[in-house]
Amino acid sequence: MIGSNTPLHERLLALAQNLWWTWHPEVLGLFTDLDPHLWRQVDHNPIAFLNQITPEQIEERASELVLHSRINYAFRRLNEYVKKDKTWGGMHCSNLNKRPVAYFSAEFGLHESLPIYSGGLGILAGDHLKSASDLGIPLIGIGLLYNQGYFSQHLNKDGWQEEDYINLNINNLPLQTVVDVGGHPLIIRIDTRSGFLLARVWQAWVGRVRLMFLDSNVEGNSNEDRELTARLYGGDNKFRIRQELLLGIGGARILQALNIFPGVLHLNEGHSAFAILEEIRRIMEYDQIPFHRAHRRMSLYTVFTTHTPVAAGHDRFSPDLIEEHLGIFRERMGLSHDDFMALGRVNPQDRSEPFCMTVLALKTTQRANGVSAIHGTVSRLMWNALWPGRPEAEVPIGHITNGVHVLSWLAPQMNQLFETRLGQDWPTRMVHTDIWEKVEEIDDGELWETHQSLKMRLIRFVRRRLQLQSERLGHRETIKQIDQILDPDVLTIGCARRFATYKRGDLILSRPERLAKLIEDTRRPIQIVFAGKAHPRDDEGKRLLQKIAQYSYTRSYRKRVVFVENYDYNVARHLVQGVDVWLNTPRRPLEACGTSGQKVVLNGGLNLSVLDGWWNEAYDGRNGFAIGHGGMHNDQAVQYQRDAEYLYETLEKEVIPLYYDRDAHGIPHNWVKMIKHAMLTLGWRFNADRMVKDYTERTYLPAASAISTHAG
Ligand SMILES: *Cc1c(COP(=O)(O)O)cnc(C)c1O
Repeated sequence: MIGSNTPLHERLLALAQNLWWTWHPEVLGLFTDLDPHLWRQVDHNPIAFLNQITPEQIEERASELVLHSRINYAFRRLNEYVKKDKTWGGMHCSNLNKRPVAYFSAEFGLHESLPIYSGGLGILAGDHLKSASDLGIPLIGIGLLYNQGYFSQHLNKDGWQEEDYINLNINNLPLQTVVDVGGHPLIIRIDTRSGFLLARVWQAWVGRVRLMFLDSNVEGNSNEDRELTARLYGGDNKFRIRQELLLGIGGARILQALNIFPGVLHLNEGHSAFAILEEIRRIMEYDQIPFHRAHRRMSLYTVFTTHTPVAAGHDRFSPDLIEEHLGIFRERMGLSHDDFMALGRVNPQDRSEPFCMTVLALKTTQRANGVSAIHGTVSRLMWNALWPGRPEAEVPIGHITNGVHVLSWLAPQMNQLFETRLGQDWPTRMVHTDIWEKVEEIDDGELWETHQSLKMRLIRFVRRRLQLQSERLGHRETIKQIDQILDPDVLTIGCARRFATYKRGDLILSRPERLAKLIEDTRRPIQIVFAGKAHPRDDEGKRLLQKIAQYSYTRSYRKRVVFVENYDYNVARHLVQGVDVWLNTPRRPLEACGTSGQKVVLNGGLNLSVLDGWWNEAYDGRNGFAIGHGGMHNDQAVQYQRDAEYLYETLEKEVIPLYYDRDAHGIPHNWVKMIKHAMLTLGWRFNADRMVKDYTERTYLPAASAISTHAG
């Protein structure tokens, strides 16, 4: 037990063991203050930090800096947080207490020190967990522990992406071994026609929420299978189906082994849809009911969120792969091969059709949703064939628009400003519209200065990164030259994304002369910070990235256009906190939601985006900038040219003039007015608390009450 005599080192370790610290700047501040250099060196990982510093050193540093009371305070707050039962969930979700939500996701993005996410899907899952914790919703996360995490990216001299994979050191992660009811390390076993698969289980705490991971790197597995959970989305289809077997069936078996009976199965994207099958099998055997009845019951408490309108984003497996991996399973359920395949086929009669994970999920749920209003519409059209004869508008796929976990993305300085103006408890009330009315009262100068100081932080961060890159590439740049890169008085555009072609990260480069004019303008210039990774096997994406990198290497643009390597949680946090404008140029309607733009709003940034995803329902004409009017064209090339034209026009006629319209003290009042209007109209809506409440009220609670009326 940790009591009042517990040494500081142990208190800090207790803080480090719960990822609650990732959204509490006062805890982060403790580590930064103890040793800023070491903190950066260990990539903001508090356990690695504590493994490299002795308890004596900590006592000494803490005494010098008078940190004792701050450490004790943080420690007390964590304990209060974990124990608190007067939460929103405590008041509204009592019927989830016995049967919690099981939230399945192939990735979770919680912090840069736990690099088991690749992008938006994982970040969203991480944000979902953090808000579920804040709200006190009984929820358990299930995922995979990737031993090498996602790759880290660097660019070579030609601007071509290269990938490094580094083995994570488990001793440096906030993980504990999960044990079974007998107290032994839990091992999950899955039998297939080509042998069995084993996995061990880890857990982490995200505030009040328990998150469990399967890890196939165990004795008893073949060498090949030991690598199944080494990397995200690696390998061929056989590799993927085995990964997804682990996640879905393995994940459901963890719950069984621990005697946890979920009241809701929430599948974040189709990767984990096999969990449905394992639950159906359990119900059949437990209640002695036939498949069709178990299937119907299952559909009452499955919640399925689909995340992409891009066809390649939906996993499909051949009949052979399905038979090899699920043949034993299907026989146990008493289904023929064709009946089993039908669960994953749009047209059950079509024997050439592969088994699609999204189809399995959609066929086994009454509660499916896309992640923005426009994505809901697109998904209804996309999957209309699953409900033959029904008009598109009546396809049972709704939408719940994504939101971001605000305290994970908000700069501490902005938080302070809100605390003084909106009230100390604003984070627990952020979904209420009325608290945001008070942003009008914030002094323009104060808001602007806060924003400028955040921009300066971003600039220093970028320079530090560029210096490292420059040294690695053997460029002979002096510190003085590096220090001239980016100017805090220049309109700064941030543009970071996965480099998939539909995201069109290069749209702003499409008219080089016109862009050059904007960059080189002596009175009202712009500067751009790019970042982002391409999937390791996506050469087209890499070429897109290279085009941008090479542009940023151009000597004459060196000071104004930069590419920051290794886009991750950390780079994203700096970017969304420091830019003036967030640029988003996907090909409509392929951006399911997009969340990066939501992260800038409360940090005082403005969106400049195609009317797609969340922005399509958020933009009101005065809370940011739209590129175009939401048009689409069958010919991609035409749409590209049109959107490019709209982009330049908006920049030239709206964004730049408004930004440089200053008073005598250099304050852009009309720009600040827009920032405030964005906070007022977007703050309460596009956050993860609102999102998780929507999921709870519209899906979790109805699902839980539907299932509780059934026996078993
Ligand atoms: C927020 C975030 C994303 C999501 O990006 P979108 O393009 O807005 O969907 C991806 N990667 C990281 C690191 C993020 O922080």
